[in-house]
Amino acid sequence: MGNIKYDSHLHSDFSGDCDTSAAQMIERALSLGLDGLCFTEHEDPDAPPSECDFSIDFERYFALLPKLQEQYRGRLQIGIGMEYGIQPHLPAAFAKLSREYPFDYIIASLHNLNNMDPYYPSYFEGRSERDCYEEFFRVQYETLRQCDPTSFDTLGHMDYIVRYGPNRNKYYSYESYSDFIDPILCLLIENGKCLELNTGGLKYDLGEPNPCTGILRRYRELGGELVTVGSDAHEPEYLGYCFDYAAELLQELGFRYYTVFEQRIGQQVRL
Ligand SMILES: [Zn+2]
Ligand SMILES: [Zn+2]
Repeated sequence: MGNIKYDSHLHSDFSGDCDTSAAQMIERALSLGLDGLCFTEHEDPDAPPSECDFSIDFERYFALLPKLQEQYRGRLQIGIGMEYGIQPHLPAAFAKLSREYPFDYIIASLHNLNNMDPYYPSYFEGRSERDCYEEFFRVQYETLRQCDPTSFDTLGHMDYIVRYGPNRNKYYSYESYSDFIDPILCLLIENGKCLELNTGGLKYDLGEPNPCTGILRRYRELGGELVTVGSDAHEPEYLGYCFDYAAELLQELGFRYYTVFEQRIGQQVRL
């Protein structure tokens, strides 16, 4: 598992699109020799209708997870986190939720735009891929600008949309969308927020993490130093996926640490 021994992005059956129990993920983490993991369950208010319910049963979540933390104390660090699906009309609800519950860690992720999920091909119908990608970054920037910086710790899978475009990342690069990407990176840096390296892109055969190497490089060039690393696993076999690659890539790009959160406080861990 190389130098990254903490997975900061994964799901269990508290998320509507995941059937794996928290205990299964924990057992897998132990067998991989991880030091820790943080559950980051989906909370996507006002998600477009789908077969999944993207809302956390907070009562049950905060009843079970502390028990698991206790049970595995000394063997595995277990964080209680959330992946919040940001949307332009939700910053106040987001801020309220982040104050209400004692999360260790909060990821802000843009999943849905204009009441549609790019996961479904209908999102791209009748529009150019470029228009769709530009819109995604523009809305992400505008939404983040409205979000109280204290309501989250990292920006999740910043170029999530390229997993699903008709040509995926074939015609996509940092350079070709830099006008839309730079403002987001600057905003994160100004507010001391992390950028997530999500290895899910490698699982989706993009040949790149999300965001792509070009964006990670640019973030570093602009002075960004804070990165979190997560697999976005929904199944145990993807826990810690390609973390060796992620560690090497980050080192090559000039990052020296990755960040792990506990009680919303970031600790820098050497790569
Ligand atoms: Zn996500
Ligand atoms: Zn996720």
